[in-house]
Amino acid sequence: METTDMKTRLKSLPSVDEMLKGPDGRNWLSLYPRRFVLKGIREHIESLRSAIRKGGSPETDPASISRGIECLIQGYVAPSLRAAINATGVVLHTNLGRAPLSEAALKGVVEISKGYSNLEYNLEEGKRGKRYAHLRELIKEITGAPDATVVNNNAAAVLLALSSLAKGKEVIVSRGELVEIGGSFRVPDVMAQSGAVLREVGTTNKTHLRDYERAICDETALILKVHQSNYRITGFTSDVSVEELVALGGKNSIPVMFDLGSGCLFDLRTRGVGSEPVVREVVQTGVDLVTFSGDKLLGGPQAGIAAGKPQVIEKMNQNPLARALRIDKMTLAALQATFFAYADEEKAQTEIPTLRMLLESPESIRERAGRLASGIRAKEGIFIEVVEDFSEAGGGSLPGVSLRTFCVSVRSKNLLSPNRMEEKLRTGSPPVIARIKEDALVLDARTIADDEVQTVAERLNGILQ
Ligand SMILES: *Cc1c(COP(=O)(O)O)cnc(C)c1O
Repeated sequence: METTDMKTRLKSLPSVDEMLKGPDGRNWLSLYPRRFVLKGIREHIESLRSAIRKGGSPETDPASISRGIECLIQGYVAPSLRAAINATGVVLHTNLGRAPLSEAALKGVVEISKGYSNLEYNLEEGKRGKRYAHLRELIKEITGAPDATVVNNNAAAVLLALSSLAKGKEVIVSRGELVEIGGSFRVPDVMAQSGAVLREVGTTNKTHLRDYERAICDETALILKVHQSNYRITGFTSDVSVEELVALGGKNSIPVMFDLGSGCLFDLRTRGVGSEPVVREVVQTGVDLVTFSGDKLLGGPQAGIAAGKPQVIEKMNQNPLARALRIDKMTLAALQATFFAYADEEKAQTEIPTLRMLLESPESIRERAGRLASGIRAKEGIFIEVVEDFSEAGGGSLPGVSLRTFCVSVRSKNLLSPNRMEEKLRTGSPPVIARIKEDALVLDARTIADDEVQTVAERLNGILQ
């Protein structure tokens, strides 16, 4: 029941029309689209009404009402997808957009998408051309594969390959490789969607060549090897090398496919990082098909690259699914520029942000961490230090590889808990995503770009006020 007091309070609320015609309303209309101004006014007044009816006493003075409305309007007009600063040290952070693009890739995207292009037009012959022709020769050159095609992401490449090569037939996979990557890509599920039948062999920790051999039958259409990507089985283990599988496939006229996941084009081993083989080496084993992501170690846009024998690539391109999974011109432009950088390894490691971050020396990272630390204003009760730590590649790439790094550690004595600091950095603008370690907020300088150092320092100074 509404008491007299409630009635008075409800009556004192301004109407939507009054708000709209008042000075604040007119100001908002000059700044924001009318629909969002109306929505903000309606929703805020409605929420005050319902709070009063429930017996609450929200602030209803004109200034508070205006502040509440403006806050809502600003929420509606701010784009939900926005740039953030990655201070986690995880280079290929799946939740933060994986690989940042190189300058050349960005330039390509702008150039190709702001106007028309020869996306599917053969300029020499003046007639229809092929979308993938632009990338095919470049991928062949860089990977050494006899043929190649590209789809929307690596999950799509695997789906398309299984559907094209093994629909209604059996695919042999080791039990130790039935992985789940990032929650939504599970090898058995993708297999089911493709219409292929999974034939599991071996056990979780050990699979032998004879396990594959015994599973081969008239129904076998493909032998699939999957990179374990985001985990490592250690201890009493064994798996079958791609070379052995290629030999087995050859003997039985069964194609062999290797889902590499990350697909490394730059030999990180030469720089002491991990033990990932480069795609070219895997191709040289004679495997019929390899698939890998465009936005993991490659450092390009989201895409799935399939490189292999011409008859296999041909089947994939002919599959009606290929049209549904095809890449857009922006991706094509970015991927072309990214692959092109690999024509010169020196260039690749300086131009591609992912490689640059993975290969940066700890001393150089320490120097950047030092600059960040000295940009933070000294304050009673706040402890700032540069500390040594480890960062990781992320994105299911280079599992188990720890990269020595330097971080800025921020501790506050009784002023702000690390959780509170983390939250403030994350929800402010621009958002800065950091980690918490023990009682400190930790910002890893590996993934903070040079031109972001000052911004991060300013954000920290803001919250430590
Ligand atoms: C990451 C990964 C995928 C999925 O690739 P996306 O490009 O994210 O679709 C598939 N297989 C393996 C082994 C992977 O590591």
